[in-house]
Amino acid sequence: MSQISKSVSSVPRFSPLRIRVFDTCRLRYRYQYLDRVPAKLRPQDTAGSLLHRVLCDFFSKVPMAERDEQRLVRMFEDGWEALSPRYRRMKGVEKLRDKSLAQLRMFAQQHDLSARPLLVEPYFQVEVAPQVTLFGRVDRIDEEAAGTLHVIDYKTGSHADEVDAKQLRLYAIMAEKSLGKPVTKTSFWHLDDGDTWMEDFSDEQRRLSHSELLEAVKQMQSITDFPPNVGQHCGHCPYLHACSARDEIQRRRLAEGW
Ligand code: SF4
Repeated sequence: MSQISKSVSSVPRFSPLRIRVFDTCRLRYRYQYLDRVPAKLRPQDTAGSLLHRVLCDFFSKVPMAERDEQRLVRMFEDGWEALSPRYRRMKGVEKLRDKSLAQLRMFAQQHDLSARPLLVEPYFQVEVAPQVTLFGRVDRIDEEAAGTLHVIDYKTGSHADEVDAKQLRLYAIMAEKSLGKPVTKTSFWHLDDGDTWMEDFSDEQRRLSHSELLEAVKQMQSITDFPPNVGQHCGHCPYLHACSARDEIQRRRLAEGW
């Protein structure tokens, strides 16, 4: 993993994830960032983290001549064996293993395994405005032939209908400020169905993302009300176990079938 940071003063720090959580549910925001309620991760979160780690190691450590589907699969299997026996014995987890392996095999068939990403999992921390520091880790950055950058985010969960391009654009802002090169493309690579979503990163998006970020930070610093926002996203909220809206969530789940 790469560590890239510019010297920043001691100013409030915000991650793209924090802004996404704020946009999605104010109650979750409170649990996660203000009350610091312990998160309860799901078994699929562990499998997803392992997939990310395997892809990071594959592109950063394996020599190009040794890169193929078998090597990718073997790295995942080795990583799986290193997970705790308690986790591996959990109900339904064996299916997650099979699903993850199928995702990696599809990835190997669809994408160039000999690619040389400019950076994998770089950590950025940049001051984007007075008193606003943005930080976070990006899955992968490729350099295009013209010297411009392509920011890529791997998605290992089920493919939601809507993509959250806002988070990806914040990654692009961090990459540009840290690396001093323009980002021209941002992409989600969905591992579950092999779909890729790509967007050109234009000046207009750059400006819009920047002003949305500053507006979100302003709201975060003055918010006093934290209502729940019940919806399908509650199904993968790590704070569901503590949520005061659980009865409503259960009712909506049954009524709406999610
Ligand atoms: S379970 Fe739903 S309503 Fe409750 S905190 Fe999480 S996202 Fe918000």
